[in-house]
Amino acid sequence: MFCSMKGKAVIITAPSGAGKTTVVKHLLSCEDLKLEFSISACTRLPREGELHGRDYYFMSIEGFKDKIEEDEFVEWEEVYRNCYYGTLKSEVRRIWTSKRNILFDVDVMGAVTLKQTLGDKAFALFIMPPSMDVLRERLENRGLDSPVVIENRINKASLEISYAGRFDETLVNDTLNETLEQAENLVRHFLENSRQP
Ligand code: ADP
Ligand code: 5GP
Repeated sequence: MFCSMKGKAVIITAPSGAGKTTVVKHLLSCEDLKLEFSISACTRLPREGELHGRDYYFMSIEGFKDKIEEDEFVEWEEVYRNCYYGTLKSEVRRIWTSKRNILFDVDVMGAVTLKQTLGDKAFALFIMPPSMDVLRERLENRGLDSPVVIENRINKASLEISYAGRFDETLVNDTLNETLEQAENLVRHFLENSRQP
């Protein structure tokens, strides 16, 4: 799949609350990296300020399942119960056709599939929380999730952390400025030095 297409991709993954979105926003602000955010399909409702076609392609569970049947996804996961997220093949084609590099923000299982699928075309970076206590603190301070949701995310994090070794690099997100600088350096190095497979 996509073997005949030219293009590179960067996959950012982490347990929820570890700092993935913060890293993704920083990388998108580095215009010279020519990264374009891969807009995923998802079945949750838009949050305040989110737009269809910019943040996600929001769809019903039925619509999402139709696309699974039609083999339109590179990968998809039921990230939370009844909450499906997936990368559309059309999104990969859209970005590579425009000659830009893809930036994926996906959960850990989705990142494993993307890395397997894209191989050397992709650089996969795992963002590690400094500790479980810090992860909990960040989820609580972010103020987006209820205590039950935070508990579920913490429980899932141990399994996700056990997958860290499958990715190209791991960064412990302790001091934010250092994490952003290191992530930028790693991505820049990959984009500038990897051969076009
Ligand atoms: P994710 O996308 O992985 O769920 P976020 O990027 O939303 O995580 O980060 C979770 C919370 O932690 C946010 O409130 C963010 O501002 C904060 N955060 C991220 N990195 C750090 C850091 N190094 N130190 C302190 N707070 C951080
Ligand atoms: P949120 O609902 O907070 O935007 O995202 C929840 C989780 O779903 C995050 O871990 C995010 O990275 C993940 N996610 C977003 N898009 C995709 C996708 O296309 N595939 C997979 N597997 N996970 C995704």
